[in-house]
Amino acid sequence: MQGSASKHWRILLGLALGAVVGLLANAWSQGDTSRERVIAWIGDWIAYPIGQVFLRLLFLVVVPLVFAALAASVARIGTTGVMGRMGVRTAVLFLLTTGFSVVLGLSAMHLIAPGRGFDPATSEALLKAFSGEVQALAGKTPAASVEGAKGVVNLVLEMFLPRNMLAAVTQMQMLPLILFSLLFGAAIGVQTLQRRERVVAALDAVSDAMVWIVDRAMRLAPVAVACLIFVSTSRFGLPLLGKLSAFVGVVIGLYLVQLFVLYPVLLAALAGRAPAPFLRNCLPILATAFSTSSSNATLPTSIEVCERNLGIRPAVASFVLPLGATVNMNGTALFEGCVVLFVAQVFGMELSLAQQAVVVVLCVISAIGVAGVPGGSLPLLMGVMAQVGVPVEGIALVLGVDRLLDMGRTVVNVMGDVVTAACVESRLPPDVT
Ligand code: ASP
Repeated sequence: MQGSASKHWRILLGLALGAVVGLLANAWSQGDTSRERVIAWIGDWIAYPIGQVFLRLLFLVVVPLVFAALAASVARIGTTGVMGRMGVRTAVLFLLTTGFSVVLGLSAMHLIAPGRGFDPATSEALLKAFSGEVQALAGKTPAASVEGAKGVVNLVLEMFLPRNMLAAVTQMQMLPLILFSLLFGAAIGVQTLQRRERVVAALDAVSDAMVWIVDRAMRLAPVAVACLIFVSTSRFGLPLLGKLSAFVGVVIGLYLVQLFVLYPVLLAALAGRAPAPFLRNCLPILATAFSTSSSNATLPTSIEVCERNLGIRPAVASFVLPLGATVNMNGTALFEGCVVLFVAQVFGMELSLAQQAVVVVLCVISAIGVAGVPGGSLPLLMGVMAQVGVPVEGIALVLGVDRLLDMGRTVVNVMGDVVTAACVESRLPPDVT
């Protein structure tokens, strides 16, 4: 797929072109209704459909790919010590990096405090302007229906073991599918060698078929990525971005710290890899995550790039990446912590140390449950806010800039999975394929 470097650059060129044209269109149409209508028409009838065809082709393969890749990986290695160690290492890295992200976010928000002294008139206008969106999100917040111990138990059961796995999967809730795939792989792993090999070969064929489809879809990528970015940037509320620049600046700055400080340190220290060439090889992953704002849609690309360009063995890539796209969301956890403190600051609230510890735990847990789709974290984020007594309607303050922040946090989310895969790969015995 992304064998030649020129393909990476074409995607990045599409990204840059789409962003520049979108921003110019935004500036050109600002405050002029007839121009705004022209730009909206181009967005709705040209850019949006092209972008969506690409995005949905990627979504199309996610469920079979996650199932086939994960099940084959577990069946191949079997329920041996190697699988156990790989699983534990993956889980520890996921938890540590996610926890670190929230603590980083909270510390920076304390230090810089972009919500203190926030203009009350702007705050009031935003609360009013986005109240409809907030209402819609509140309906999707799981915490809204949680009452008492039974409610909590049911919430957790729904997350991992819903009565109807297929219904959950149609909502892009992948945790039940992950659990089923792991169990299926383990069950195949204990069968006779001959049967195991046959099923693994069939699962590999399914994965390869999905990758074949992604290969074709990726040919659309340069144009589709330009269209997706155009739709976002041409509608950005640029004046709003200016008003929220302190908050947006802190969050984007922290994304960059994760990408260019935390991940390179992990790569060098735990994976023995030189960070610069590693990150350069990840360009198609970065471009896909940035333009789609979806960990799930980026999964096929990250599996391919890891196996083909980064020398990560299929047993690791097929295990760590589908799991990570579902449960490991460092950027999302960081963003959630930042929003909780920002809203608290704007509303003049002080969160005690104990409340902040609760925020850390809740952000880590909710990041596990977030669906890897655009804006997937917003309903759960409102649940976190409600739990620590921060006014949930305050989410309106950041909704207008969420698209931009979502693009960034998805890049951080996906790169967290890829870096974890490299760290796990470096400890895998050489005989595993
Ligand atoms: N868009 C993010 C992802 O897919 C999820 C979120 O934080 O909204 O990784």
